[in-house]
Parts: sequence; C-alpha cells; structure tokens
Amino acid sequence: MGRAITMDETLYRYLVDHSVREHPVLAELRAETAKLPKAVMQIGPEQGQFMALLARLMGARRCIEIGVFTGYSSLAVALALPENGSIIALDVSDEWTSIARRHWRRAGVEGKIDLRLGRAMDTLDTLISLQESGRFDLAFIDADKGNYLGYYERCLELVRPGGLILLDNTLWSGAVADPANQEPDTVALRALNEALHRDDRIDLAQLPVGDGLTLARKR
Ligand code: CA
Repeated sequence: MGRAITMDETLYRYLVDHSVREHPVLAELRAETAKLPKAVMQIGPEQGQFMALLARLMGARRCIEIGVFTGYSSLAVALALPENGSIIALDVSDEWTSIARRHWRRAGVEGKIDLRLGRAMDTLDTLISLQESGRFDLAFIDADKGNYLGYYERCLELVRPGGLILLDNTLWSGAVADPANQEPDTVALRALNEALHRDDRIDLAQLPVGDGLTLARKR
C-alpha cells in the first residue's frame, strides 16, 4: 500500500528550508510561541502556508477559526485574504490571544480578524441564529478534541456549498490507530474520523500534514 514518506527531523528541516516563505511577523510569532510551555499547540509554518494557499485557491473571503492559541494560523490565513476578507476567531483564552492580537496588529491585519472570547459552541450557535448559515468560505477547527464533532456540524451549516472545513490533529500522533489507546481525546478523534468517512455531505481528504489535517469540502 502506498503511504506517506517518513518525516524525520532532517527531512522536515529540508522541507521547511526549501518551501516555506514566512512573513517576518509570522516568524517572530513562531519564535515567541516556541518559548511557551504549550508550544506544541502551534501549527508548523508549512501548514500555515498550505492553509494560506488553500484560502487563495478558493478565493476565500469569510473564514471562521475555532481555537486561536497565539494566532499563527489566523495570521497566516489573514495575510492571504483580500482586503475585504475577514476571520471570526474563537477562543477561550485572553492570555494566549493577547499574544495573537499583538502580532495581528504588527502585521497590519488586525482589522480582518474579529476575535470572540467565550465558548466556541455558543458563538457558532449564535452565528447560525443570526442567519449566517452558508455565508462562510473556510473554517479551521483546532480546539478541544472532545467537541470536534459538534464544531464540525456547526461549521458544515455555516460554510457555503463548495466551502472547506479544515480539522487539525486528526491523526493525534498516531494514537487514533492504536486500539489500546482509549484516552478521551483519542476516542473522540477516532469517532470523528469515522463519522467524516461515512458523511456523504462532504468530499474528504485526510493528509499527514503536521499532526494530521483533514479537509472536508461541503457538497
Ligand atoms: Ca492543533
């Protein structure tokens, strides 16, 4: 069976060095975030660039991000959006998103990003109740794994036909394929992967990018 190339540190370094073109503020943000205890929550620069390319490819204008952390992915995507583009960014942490806001400002995209602190599920339900269904192009889900299915269902409602939902960490360091691992997050991601696999409302691809990146295109 064909499979992805094994990505050791040397090859990953090569890939980054030979393909990533990182905006200087993105590079600064990555360096600052790397010093934090939760640094592993930050996506890699090659993933940010891939998401930005997807946004450009589909001509995305309105986006939703669930799980901002220090704002790397939102910054990468915001830089790729047109002048009138926007991201509604959802998170619960004022501490982490204050780092995000500082870098969005430095990169001159703070006007494109509408940060909403609070329970993401509530904010998504509010958007749906405000008749925002079908009005988004792109959604990125990268938050608490136990709620992924709920976030996904709401994003599927909010994106337009042809819109794209990206879900991060769907391979969960390989744990999803280890039946002995019954950690709640692993079980939740396994259930999510199975639900997406049989969901005929979407076109589907799961890529070994970062910790596993799933692309779901609304039909
Ligand atoms: Ca993640």
